Amino acid sequence: MIEIDRYKCGYCGACVSVCPTDAIELVGTWIKIEEGTCNSCKACVNVCPVGALELEPDRN
Ligand code: SF4
Ligand code: SF4
Repeated sequence: MIEIDRYKCGYCGACVSVCPTDAIELVGTWIKIEEGTCNSCKACVNVCPVGALELEPDRN
């Protein structure tokens, strides 16, 4: 799953536009990530200009 560092995020929306599954949504100043929809492609992690996103190993 994708973890977001909310202190780093500048709400630029870059992650939202590259996500192939529409798993990320920018709602005002809140990034919402749908865990069930995310396929862990890491496109958002790679595009984030401030390194606010990280792919965490599944916890199961
Ligand atoms: S890892 Fe890929 S599918 Fe998951 S939220 Fe990021 S861009 Fe979307
Ligand atoms: S790309 Fe990074 S800084 Fe931009 S909205 Fe997404 S998490 Fe925030």
